Amino acid sequence: MFNAGDIVKVLIPNVVNAGYDYRLTASAGVGDMVRVTVMMRPYVGVIIGPGDSHLPPQKIKSVSAILDGHMTAADLTWIHKMADWTMMAPGAVLRLILNVSDAFSPPRTEQLYTWHMADGTRMTAQRQMVADAFAANDNEAMSAADIQNIARVGASVVRGLVRGGNLVPTDVRARHNDATFVHQYRDTKSVTLNADQQAAADTLARHIDAGGFSVHLLDGVTGSGKTQVYFDALWRAYAAGRSVLLMMPEIALTAQFMDRFAARFGAPPVVWHSNLTAARRREIWRGVLAGDVRIVVGTRSALFLPWQDLGLVIIDEEHDGSYKQEDMGNYHARDMAVLRAAIAGFPVVLASATPSAETLENVALGKYGRLRLTSRFGGATMPTIETIDMRANRPTDYPIPGDGDQTRPGMLSPTLCDAIGETLSAGHQAMLFINRRGFAPIVQCRHCGWAAQCPDCSVGMTYHKRLGKLLCHMCGRTAPMPTACPDCGRDVSMRGAGLERIQEEIAARFPAARTALVSSDTMLSRAALERLVHKMESGEIDIVIGTQILAKGHHFPNLTLVGVVDADMGLYGTDFRAAEHTFQQLFQVAGRAGRGNIPGRVLMQTYQPDHPVMTAICAGARDEFMASDMAARRAAQMPPYGQLIALVVEGQKESVLQQFCADLAASAPALSGGKIMGPIAAQVYQIRNWYRMRFLISGPARANLQPIVRRWLNTVRIPANIRVKVDVGPQNFM
Ligand code: ADP
Ligand code: ZN
Repeated sequence: MFNAGDIVKVLIPNVVNAGYDYRLTASAGVGDMVRVTVMMRPYVGVIIGPGDSHLPPQKIKSVSAILDGHMTAADLTWIHKMADWTMMAPGAVLRLILNVSDAFSPPRTEQLYTWHMADGTRMTAQRQMVADAFAANDNEAMSAADIQNIARVGASVVRGLVRGGNLVPTDVRARHNDATFVHQYRDTKSVTLNADQQAAADTLARHIDAGGFSVHLLDGVTGSGKTQVYFDALWRAYAAGRSVLLMMPEIALTAQFMDRFAARFGAPPVVWHSNLTAARRREIWRGVLAGDVRIVVGTRSALFLPWQDLGLVIIDEEHDGSYKQEDMGNYHARDMAVLRAAIAGFPVVLASATPSAETLENVALGKYGRLRLTSRFGGATMPTIETIDMRANRPTDYPIPGDGDQTRPGMLSPTLCDAIGETLSAGHQAMLFINRRGFAPIVQCRHCGWAAQCPDCSVGMTYHKRLGKLLCHMCGRTAPMPTACPDCGRDVSMRGAGLERIQEEIAARFPAARTALVSSDTMLSRAALERLVHKMESGEIDIVIGTQILAKGHHFPNLTLVGVVDADMGLYGTDFRAAEHTFQQLFQVAGRAGRGNIPGRVLMQTYQPDHPVMTAICAGARDEFMASDMAARRAAQMPPYGQLIALVVEGQKESVLQQFCADLAASAPALSGGKIMGPIAAQVYQIRNWYRMRFLISGPARANLQPIVRRWLNTVRIPANIRVKVDVGPQNFM
């Protein structure tokens, strides 16, 4: 405890600092949140210890206010260890937590709007996004800023809707009082666990009751009932008075899931994700800080809520790539949750049907326990999975609908088409999976070689039929689709297939089938996705064509056929995790088939039916596949048997960037047992007009490369127009 007049060190939530000294005006302790100013700007910071400044006392500013918020010693240790591991500054880590700027101010009053569907409104795609933003937030009133952020539309769209009477101004007032959160959860015990589930739940209950750190992998095929097992654990910790965080990938936060939660616990959970209104964020943040909110279901950033007495963290789909944050900092939420649990001493549950190599290795080392659920719940059988050898099963051309006798080369093999036909005549539903948006990924001139290329990024532009335009998938820039080659004036052609092209082919081959597209283009909002799920459930859709957005979390009893249009697509990358990720994704997609009483069937179109990924999926040989993939990684000293740190160096002037990279390479330290590779041009050399180079530092597992890299970077002066991004444990090698 410090007294009035004492000098303390306050950590500020911004990128560079490790703490500044302030004078207290009243007593306060380590971990207390305080209001201070830095260069005239107000911040909420945290007292991390006594001050150590050599400034004369009169130069030290006073703390402006001591706030009603506190972090424990374990929280502060976690922040510092996370900073050490990720090489972020401690202040940058703190910023992930103290990121609700008005959390300690009275609720702001602002002009709010409600949505009103006026007669005769001309609904553009952007206006629909606004409507969806309201639907996704239970039609609560929103400020103009919220509408722009959540619907991702510009101010002019909002102004137009206000003029047209679709956005109706409501009272200028602050929404939400903190009392909204008095949920009366109760365990309705609406399910009886089977023997496997009960055994897993019992083990978790023992660890939760005993307290202390542990990690368990809840390992079970899709549909085996993992959710009900971790619901049991969640209740156990909650009923004991602790807080519980359930993390999920954003696309798994579905209404179906919320309904299941409510069915079990009597009320829906508090949900945290990136598309909440500012008022809602503030309210949840304050609720968690006050200990009123003790269960949150959320995306990776929910780990950084100001948790009080966290007693359990559950991470569903633990292998999912969305847990890795790459832009503002580079943490892996799963690993940082485990770190937090190890420091504060509580159990973690990792659930997956396709656990990551990292987690499997921790199980093998005995660091994590494993709880297996071996079969689908209630006797639902696993689907049969087969490959279609595309070398022998050539698709035929199809007539372009509405275009006379013009034809286009097909992408769907006769075998897959037959299976679709059978499924439709049986009155069942089919899903076609292709992980590529748009109509055609390559637009080029076959005569002179011209290809549509983004002027700001070194990638080709994809033709999107829905937009009638070319779109850059890196930066979002659009361009008109040329009617003739801009270089030689002859005709341009489209190669490769995306979702929209598959939809066209289906329309040509099965004109009576009702289809829907699901991708991040068409499902910009949760509400749009819910509408689609509802149509699937009520049988208004026969064939759904989607990207991986559909691969998770949904349960459609009448869906009996899954066709993977291009199963090889993920195998071509240079990423050492390409095989693992392809396996996980195909397995996940396959898990959508036959979840009801009717057995399911999965057909994967491939040119490499003998590839280990394909044979393993067909045989259901997950463990064998992962074992051989991991053996290869062990031999190559790749994670989890080695450690990697990537440096992505970016600059707007190519010459400055190249010179800086050469300087950096020249001062690279010698590594015993490891190596520094680079600089090499990044796979995507240019994004949004920034040129990009990469270094990769590798070493044995537990090599502790961070201090070496930190010393190295400290030896060079980084020019103003260069940015260096440090990525510890990179998942992305673009
Ligand atoms: P997973 O998360 O492993 O994919 P789910 O938890 O979604 O599996 O369960 C699959 C299906 O089985 C769901 O419809 C779920 O409601 C049902 N189910 C699972 N366990 C039980 C249980 N003990 N009693 C009744 N239904 C269950
Ligand atoms: Zn671009």
